[in-house]
This record gives sequence, C-alpha cells and structure tokens, in this order.
Amino acid sequence: MPIPALADNYIWLLHDGHEALVVDPGVPEPVMQVLQAQGLALRTILVTHHHADHVGGVAALREATGATVYGPAFETIPEPATRVDGGDTLHLLGRTWLVLAIPGHTSGHVAYYCASPEGGEAPILFCGDTLFSAGCGRLFEGTPAQMFDSLQQLAALPAHTRVCCAHEYTLSNLRFALAVEPNNAQLLHHAAHCQNLRAQGQPTLPSSLAVEREINPFLRCNVVQVAQGASQFAPHLDTQHPLSVFTALREWKNVFQ
Ligand SMILES: [Zn+2]
Ligand SMILES: [Zn+2]
Repeated sequence: MPIPALADNYIWLLHDGHEALVVDPGVPEPVMQVLQAQGLALRTILVTHHHADHVGGVAALREATGATVYGPAFETIPEPATRVDGGDTLHLLGRTWLVLAIPGHTSGHVAYYCASPEGGEAPILFCGDTLFSAGCGRLFEGTPAQMFDSLQQLAALPAHTRVCCAHEYTLSNLRFALAVEPNNAQLLHHAAHCQNLRAQGQPTLPSSLAVEREINPFLRCNVVQVAQGASQFAPHLDTQHPLSVFTALREWKNVFQ
C-alpha cells in the first residue's frame, strides 16, 4: 500500500500481517501511524537513492523499530545500512528480491524487484524516482544513455509487474505524454481513468508495465509516433535512433509547462 507523505511522495509499505517493510521513508510519522494502527512490526527499510525526500525518515524509524536498512552501495545514506548493488538478492518477508542497478536520476540509484510474491500475486517493482507512471525521473547525476538503459531494463520485466513509483506525478506526466502522442487511444483512455482516480483522492499507482509500455513516451522511443512527437521539440532529431528520441523527450519535459 502507498502511504502519502510530504507534497507528493509515496512511502510503499508491504506486510504479511505481522511484519512489514517500507521503501524510501522521507518522513517517519505516517509510517509509525500505519504500523500502530495495523499492529505491524517494521523489520526492513529499503532505500532506492539518497535524496532527502526518500531517506529523511530512515534514522527515526530505525531507532523506533530496530529495522534493518538496505540501500545503494555507492550513495551517501543514513548509517548504519547494508549496502546492495545490481544482481544482489535479498530475502525479505518470506520472498526473494532482486536488486537492479538503474542509474540516471542519481548515479547509484537501485530498484527492488520481487518476481514471485506469495499467493500467485503479480510481481512487485519498487523503482524510486527512475520510472514514473507516464514519465521518468529527471537526470540529476546520470547521462541520458544511462537512464535510457535503466528504463529499458525495467521495461523488460514481466508485463503484469506492479510498478510502485515514489511520487504521484501521473497527471502532469500524462499531459506531457499527450503532447507527444495526442492520438494514442490507450493514453487518452488511461488519462481519463487517472483523472477519475485523483478526483476521488485515490492514488494512480501502482501502475503495471503492460500499461506503461502503451502510454509512457519514455518507454516508447522506438515508436514512430513518439519519435515524430519528439521532433516537434527537436526538429533535427534522428527519429530512427531511440536514444536520441529519449534525450529530446527528456529535455522537452524539463521545460514543458
Ligand atoms: Zn530523487
Ligand atoms: Zn523523490
């Protein structure tokens, strides 16, 4: 479940009825409230990257609960933490998790992926600020090529994977996606669906990779209509080259109102 925090963050919480893990707690209070209300013991804190809105609550939650903190090997995060990098596996809440190295938003950003949750549920992806619904994170530390590769790596996971992003940016991302691909019928349909959800105060997340592959321009740089859309912003773009399309889209999004 996503716990809303700060202006537009989600702190994802997963539990088995007794023990819980949280991802990127930017603040401690809303997590403590859920733990108390549901009688859960916090065992694990997962960190995707070092930004304050993702780690601001780590120290207080660890002190209050004794939870173990896992975080990216090459970033500065609150100590003590167990460092993880792409290819590592963790055993948490009775499930196996794979760590994915996905640089771009920050240089050491990681994601946590569970291929087979209990009870035949769909796979789970905690992707921090790398993949958003209908968008992707800004390139604060990495290169366009790194981010492009990271997004390709995530997009290659199974279609029914639940995509648990760290921010509710979906509606503004969808406005941009529609500027790129105004005639994408699935995008129009999904935008109406998400507007409904937000009007009712509901999160638009988790999304799924099946949906993102159809509506997220940053995962569709090889689609002719997306390349044509990007060339509105970058007229001399090589529309045959997906990384060039991606780079143009990311630059356009940075200045898109
Ligand atoms: Zn961030
Ligand atoms: Zn963030």
